[in-house]
Amino acid sequence: MKITPIPLPGYERVAKAEDPAAGLTAYIAVHDTTLGPALGGLRMWKYENEDAALFDVKRLSRGMSFKSAVARTGLGGGKSVIVGDPRREKTPALFEAMGRFIDSFGGQYITAEDVGVGIPDLLSVRKTTRWVTGLSREMGGSGNPSPYTARGTFEGIRACAIEAWGSDDLKGKVVALQGPGNVGYPLCEQLAAAGARLIVADVSQDNMDRAVRNLGAQAVPPDAIYDQACDIFSPNALGAILNDDTIPRLECRVVAGAANNQLLDEVRHAQALKARGILYAPDYVINAGGIINVGCEFLPGGYNEQGALARIQNIFEALKQIFDTARKRNITTHAAAQELADAILAEGRSKKAAKAAAAR
Ligand code: NAD
Repeated sequence: MKITPIPLPGYERVAKAEDPAAGLTAYIAVHDTTLGPALGGLRMWKYENEDAALFDVKRLSRGMSFKSAVARTGLGGGKSVIVGDPRREKTPALFEAMGRFIDSFGGQYITAEDVGVGIPDLLSVRKTTRWVTGLSREMGGSGNPSPYTARGTFEGIRACAIEAWGSDDLKGKVVALQGPGNVGYPLCEQLAAAGARLIVADVSQDNMDRAVRNLGAQAVPPDAIYDQACDIFSPNALGAILNDDTIPRLECRVVAGAANNQLLDEVRHAQALKARGILYAPDYVINAGGIINVGCEFLPGGYNEQGALARIQNIFEALKQIFDTARKRNITTHAAAQELADAILAEGRSKKAAKAAAAR
């Protein structure tokens, strides 16, 4: 296997691996390990070209640094991508080669599931490196992260309700939820248990029927979800759904859901929501429950669910702090989240520097 370092300003370590025998072309980007080893999933995607793969791994690994910083997981930010079609090009040898590439980072980068990569693939990766998380409970891992992402998102919605209405009581609140899937459905269950009324939209008829049948949700066609008169719009399906087309249509006070990269343009669309008086829960803050859960695999004594649930509560506090800053300084919640992440990273850097100076 040929491993080529790619020096990039602002990133601790980026490298490309090529192993023609295994059919592997892959990148690992370690953005920042100030707060701990860089944890982030392994994605397999049919990138148009290698520049697109490098662009994606850089963007995603940087996002993981901010997400983990605000969630106080004690982890840094990293990500990896394999260039290839996950439907046609997966082999055990490919993932074993990826494991060797990950192992060459010596624990500086730790991997997990992401788009196009599942548990069977991670088991092949595990054969050649121990730096793998998110395996099942039977295998000593923390298991499926989705219920924990849902739990954190629910905690985040409580923080939103306090900011918007002065109380976390969701009784009678109307929630229009896009995508009642792995995360969205358990979130629907918690919202229904708290007395909220649900409107749901999904391209999967089965997932929509499940919410209607079990939770009394009202179903609407996928595109109609943006037009529903509601208190909370909760995106739990796709990215880039907050854009020039949808923001003017929203009839809600709060946007809070687990989907990644909800804002098409992070700055402009955060401003557009603020201008309309809509409170936006920054996605990487509210959807951190899964990464917090996985991060608990590194606790002394190993993973335990009670410890994970206690840490997921951090999402409630982090959002309250972000909303407070945004309100006092009249900035967007997205900008306030970025400031919080930068401040936590800066504090980590000065602590690390002080420790190094003391050791000298
Ligand atoms: P999922 O595939 O189980 O659920 C997504 C749901 O959205 C499915 O029911 C799907 O049919 C539906 N959907 C797809 N396109 C749609 C459309 N155009 N309109 C309405 N519904 C549509 O995925 P998931 O694991 O629940 O993840 C949902 C979102 O949360 C994704 O953006 C993911 O990146 C993000 N996220 C997930 C986790 C996690 O722990 N699973 C963690 C952080 C962020």
